Amino acid sequence: MAIRNIRVDNDPILKKVSRPVENFDERLFILLDDMKDTLYKADGCGLAAVQVGVLKRVVIVDVGEGLIELINPEIVETSGVQYEVEGCLSLPGRNGITKRPMTVKVRAQNREGKWCLYKGEGLKARAFCHEIDHLDGHLYTERLAPQEVIDRIKKETD
Ligand code: ZN
Repeated sequence: MAIRNIRVDNDPILKKVSRPVENFDERLFILLDDMKDTLYKADGCGLAAVQVGVLKRVVIVDVGEGLIELINPEIVETSGVQYEVEGCLSLPGRNGITKRPMTVKVRAQNREGKWCLYKGEGLKARAFCHEIDHLDGHLYTERLAPQEVIDRIKKETD
């Protein structure tokens, strides 16, 4: 187990598309375990492999309900909408209000290669969307809410 370096800011790897995982082997398990250590050390709620410099379709999420490992994840269903503040371990010191679905269903493999279905609502839905976006080179800054929504939310919270 080890802490890996989180790639930040303008690191070009963050814009790259990750490749599907084909081998569910020791290398994958080490990556997953290192990602877990790195996530907890950074006190985040999700991490994609690309953020530690590995272009594989692997993400982990923990919104306080325990760790979920998602390999080759796909969003298969979304509903509703939410506007909430979002940040990213790869964009330290910043945040923004994004538009995300309120609930999502995600199909993904676990570390044994078995396909499972995961449901997320609220923060968990945001975390799933955010991390899966990383696998296609997208950052939350591309999902910002329209300015009028941001202005309205800011007024409500003043
Ligand atoms: Zn992120």
